[in-house]
Amino acid sequence: MPKSKRSTRSGPSSAVAGGTAPYSLAQRTATSCGGVSASSNKGGGVSANLVAPNTSLGQHFLKNPAVVTAIVAKAAIKPTDSVLEIGPGTGNMTVPLLQQSKNVVAIEYDTRMVREVLKRVEGTSEERKLKVIQGDAIKTRFPFFDVCVANVPYQISSALVFKLLSHRPMFRCSVMMFQEEFALRLTARPGEALYCRLSVNTQLLAKVDQLMKVGRNNFRPPPKVESRVVRIELRNPPPPVDFIEWDGMIRLLFNRKNKTLRSVLMTKSTLKMLDENIRTHRALNERKDDMCDDENKDARQIIEQVVAMEQWKDKRASKLDLDDFLSLLAEFNKRGVHFA
Ligand code: SAH
Repeated sequence: MPKSKRSTRSGPSSAVAGGTAPYSLAQRTATSCGGVSASSNKGGGVSANLVAPNTSLGQHFLKNPAVVTAIVAKAAIKPTDSVLEIGPGTGNMTVPLLQQSKNVVAIEYDTRMVREVLKRVEGTSEERKLKVIQGDAIKTRFPFFDVCVANVPYQISSALVFKLLSHRPMFRCSVMMFQEEFALRLTARPGEALYCRLSVNTQLLAKVDQLMKVGRNNFRPPPKVESRVVRIELRNPPPPVDFIEWDGMIRLLFNRKNKTLRSVLMTKSTLKMLDENIRTHRALNERKDDMCDDENKDARQIIEQVVAMEQWKDKRASKLDLDDFLSLLAEFNKRGVHFA
């Protein structure tokens, strides 16, 4: 992957001509003649330029202006807002975002798209409000923003959600398009098939709402699966829990989410790891901990005690909710067992 760097403007300033078949950047530059093809821009506002999409970069451009309008409306952008857009592509959402906000910072990996989106606003009153950073959004430091809007590839969905969940200062909301299954994982509840580590971690740190379904034919080219738009709002204040330790426990338990807590925690490698953590924490807290009853117990003994308690007996991660996990972690921590 190329290193992140600021882009500089280049390329012709005219709007890009539409055509019937995707064509390369070289061809596009040579044939560029301004105007937009009626066939792919009936509702206006959505670019008809036909830079060949690179699907390995998840390039599925939103071609239905009604969907673009609906997504931007859901973000409820104020004229004073700074917007962060991840993966602007040819700028189909960037333009309405610019029209409604104070400014937009867009992070785009593909240099061809960086040129496209800059060209899209060149010479317009929105031009000065847009800054494009060329780079991988996961590795790029985010600027300050009030609202984040993104239609991003599946490969970076999870990393992007985690990056946003830990972003500070807190932003007002993030409106994001994901593959349907990924979006449903974010809001899955205990007992549902899609309930997973992503569901638990996201719901611990944020409130997530399903906003709309978007069919595959609203994209060019259509992806293999349907999409959904969700809104993510960080919980403020954040829950009083050490996230690294929390995630350590959740990761372990969801590795085998349908096994009992006892059988997941009693494996040789987990016990070894927990015993090491016990030793480290005891060494670090030598003086503070001297009233602890469990001081001489090892991980196996403490786990046996906890999983024998009425509320944890025969329980499986797949059926536990956030409050259950919070009290389970507190129970272990109280007895000196730590997951990080
Ligand atoms: N938002 C536009 C484009 C969506 S396609 C629209 O809705 O029409 C997804 C975009 O994300 C592409 O432009 C792709 O190049 C970009 N992208 C892919 N991986 C990225 C990454 N790691 N960081 C930033 N942008 C990325």
